[in-house]
Amino acid sequence: MARYIFITGGVVSSLGKGLMAASLAALLQARGYKVRIRKFDPYLNVDPGTMSPYQHGEVYVTDDGAETDLDLGHYERFTGVSAHQNDNITSGRVYRDIITKERRGDYLGATVQVIPHVTDAIKEFALQDQGDHDFILCEIGGTVGDIESLPFIEAIRQLRNELPQEETCLIHVTLVPYLSAAGELKTKPTQHSVRELTSLGVQPNVLLTRCEHPLPEGERRKIALFCNVRREAVIPALDASSIYAVPQQYHDEGLDREVLRHFGMLDQSRAPDMARWEDVVDRFENPEGEVTIGVVGKYVGLPDAYKSLNEALVHGGMANRTKVNIRWIDAEVFEQDEGDILSQLEPLHAILVPGGFGERGSEGKIASIRFARERKVPFLGICLGMQMACIEGARNMANIPTASSTEFGETPEPVVGIITEWMSEEGLQQRSADTDMGGTMRLGAYQANLAGNSHVSQIYGGATEISERHRHRYEVNSAYKEKLEEGGLIFSGMSPDGLLPEIVERPDHPWFVGVQFHPELKSRPFDPHPLFSGFIAAALAQSRLV
Ligand code: GLN
Repeated sequence: MARYIFITGGVVSSLGKGLMAASLAALLQARGYKVRIRKFDPYLNVDPGTMSPYQHGEVYVTDDGAETDLDLGHYERFTGVSAHQNDNITSGRVYRDIITKERRGDYLGATVQVIPHVTDAIKEFALQDQGDHDFILCEIGGTVGDIESLPFIEAIRQLRNELPQEETCLIHVTLVPYLSAAGELKTKPTQHSVRELTSLGVQPNVLLTRCEHPLPEGERRKIALFCNVRREAVIPALDASSIYAVPQQYHDEGLDREVLRHFGMLDQSRAPDMARWEDVVDRFENPEGEVTIGVVGKYVGLPDAYKSLNEALVHGGMANRTKVNIRWIDAEVFEQDEGDILSQLEPLHAILVPGGFGERGSEGKIASIRFARERKVPFLGICLGMQMACIEGARNMANIPTASSTEFGETPEPVVGIITEWMSEEGLQQRSADTDMGGTMRLGAYQANLAGNSHVSQIYGGATEISERHRHRYEVNSAYKEKLEEGGLIFSGMSPDGLLPEIVERPDHPWFVGVQFHPELKSRPFDPHPLFSGFIAAALAQSRLV
């Protein structure tokens, strides 16, 4: 049976619990253990799929088509373990399932209550599908003390009574703020937060204390004393030089050691093999080149909205030992002032138009794609970015001046249109314009077949079949394939049935690729995605030209 590690947060949000969970999992993995990480989100949306990126950051899509919290991206990137549908649960999903059962009459006349029905559903979720994992880490979103997280904490309390005592561990992540006027780190918020947790019947075993200054021994002992944990189990967590340095840093502070000691496994555990992390940190911290990439998008005000993209670009940099500066450009500015296009795009070594939804900013994206095409600047278009590359090609190279996407309203030339039918592993999927918005896009991993002599097949190391993750409602309309090809765009990747365009490229351009899927979701620091390694290599070549 798997051992469970629960991770809660206290004092404030944004303490980096997700990164902490991912780093601990990476450390346990480096000691040879098999790990899996799950996220419990207390909000009432069934999944984050319908939330604005400004509310919740990026929506991370799994191979099996779940729209999940962006922390699952951290988990995958740090462990290489692919997440599944059942690795992320929200209060909304728990309540939806319970209410469906209630309407069906499954509760046989019982009053349906938070305890036991909601807590049972949460426990069931935590315990399902343990496989042969040594550890299952469960991160609870939100902050202890929030109303929404109460049922989750209660479920943990019950689980800790029901499972053998030595098989669960609770790590509470808190903040030890520095008061500059007093010149001191303050432990009181941590004490209060732990008191809140213990008042709910849950005693933490390890405290990870985020602090901006080293935690003096006296403060460490004080936290241990007041919070009822061993001194060694108070792990100071200072800001790291980069996220890739976090696993090593937490190891140096004793995090994995304390967790294993808690489980009584320290003596039989081998030391972690940190070679892959050392290599990643070395590549990140000692680059030999530098490039500047422009990302022309809509949600540029919030870096979390493009979390995986940002990471994948950095991974591409690591593959080339190159520092990647990302310039986030709001596509809308190009719509107001054309002169801006030249001044903003000319200094760039490559241009990327990422995924997105809605018409706002689309003309600016199309203008920047035109710039990349005409000036032969390396270009990568992802999902909406690929669709815009096809509209740009249609308008300016294939003589279809009114080309557009039906996502932006009715158009006489729907070069991009709604997908109404496609094959998935579950069989034929059918949609119409009035289908519900939640969970109904083309989601998850799909195969694409690559044209043998294409640029992309070379980028993918000669592969002819690839599998990548999708999240979109619209699709390039293959009725326009011939005309677009006459305009110089080659369809070098197609769905296996030959109906859905997956990749376009321009053979008359040094590096111009548009993909209907999201390659950034599968890039990992120790295994950079080939499209990003190739894109950064092309940017590096471009930087030597300008
Ligand atoms: N809005 C587009 C669609 O639904 C693109 C989606 C995306 O970029 N993820 O097809």
